[in-house]
Amino acid sequence: MPLIDRDPLLLTPGPLSTSLRTKQAMLHDRGSWDEAFNRITAEVCRRLVDIVHAGETHVAVPMQGSGTFAVEAALGTLVPRDGKVLVPNHGAYCARILRILATIGRAAVELTVPEDQPMSPAAIAAALDADPGLSHVAVVHCETGTGILNPLEDIARVVAERGRALIVDAMSSYAAVAIDARTTPFDALVAASGKGLEGVPGMGFVIASRTALEASAGRCHSLALDLHDQWRYLQRTTQWRFTPPTHVVAALAEALRQFDEEGGVAARGARYAANGRRLVDGLGALGLQPFLRPEVQSPVIVTFHAPRHPAWDFDTFYRGVRERGYILYPGKLTRVETFRVGCIGALAPADVDGVVDAVARTLRTMGIPTPR
Ligand SMILES: *Cc1c(COP(=O)(O)O)cnc(C)c1O
Repeated sequence: MPLIDRDPLLLTPGPLSTSLRTKQAMLHDRGSWDEAFNRITAEVCRRLVDIVHAGETHVAVPMQGSGTFAVEAALGTLVPRDGKVLVPNHGAYCARILRILATIGRAAVELTVPEDQPMSPAAIAAALDADPGLSHVAVVHCETGTGILNPLEDIARVVAERGRALIVDAMSSYAAVAIDARTTPFDALVAASGKGLEGVPGMGFVIASRTALEASAGRCHSLALDLHDQWRYLQRTTQWRFTPPTHVVAALAEALRQFDEEGGVAARGARYAANGRRLVDGLGALGLQPFLRPEVQSPVIVTFHAPRHPAWDFDTFYRGVRERGYILYPGKLTRVETFRVGCIGALAPADVDGVVDAVARTLRTMGIPTPR
């Protein structure tokens, strides 16, 4: 018998806990040819571009699937077959970009970065200067594997100054951290429905420069992931190319309304940051230390060192916390034993107090002493 009679709260970076209103938006069946549904798609795409102030220069192209589908669509469509991509790598999602490029046959150069350090704009500039063959840079804004936040505006500047194109995986930072296309030039920025926008998973999207997209016809390695074809078809017909995730799109439209009501990126980012501080303070009082320095910690997800105690076992810990109503995430680091707690989703700081309490009780049950 679970101790708590409700859905567990998801302290994970997607899928995440969603509001009742967002869930209720999915209680209708909508036709993909139907004008009412196509208006929802158009409105959602317009809002997605506005959030990063890109309406003058960019368009939002939605893509069925999880976030990775949209990342692969962006790389496969925008990087020419003879292009070459610089990929700074300090975590699991950076590594995924390298894996995609290898799979779709685009040349890549890895720039290794320590996993507890942000990417250095100067190191990116030096790598670009050293290799004139590099056409693109692909970076992860917030590396969700650790929770580290990268200096996107400075990175974008050094890339633009060198006449190269930037593709950003902003999956976990979009809607939580301010991004302004007018001061942060990029060819493409990729995110998804089920992260900081607090929709349900199932739809990615690419905020793509209109000129870059126009130049990319016929380049993609894949039919289903061809962003240019998807964009042209949407423009021509107002419809998605293949079956759209209708319930996901409707839920995202409703989630966007709540995002606006809350106060946009500033308010959402502030709530997530408050969640993160409460988490670090609360778990810190139990003797659990964050993996990252506070200066580079994003308001998205916090990695904690596991307790150094012979009774520690992530699966037992996970089950104990889950029984008390909360779902945590395993660590993604190879060298140190960690676990992760997300700050994003329909969660308030009071929910974080519940998590801290569940962790404290679980550790005690496991026989792991806590200072309090
Ligand atoms: C969630 C996420 C993705 C996409 O992962 P999916 O499992 O495909 O949804 C990509 N990059 C980052 C940084 C993410 O946080």
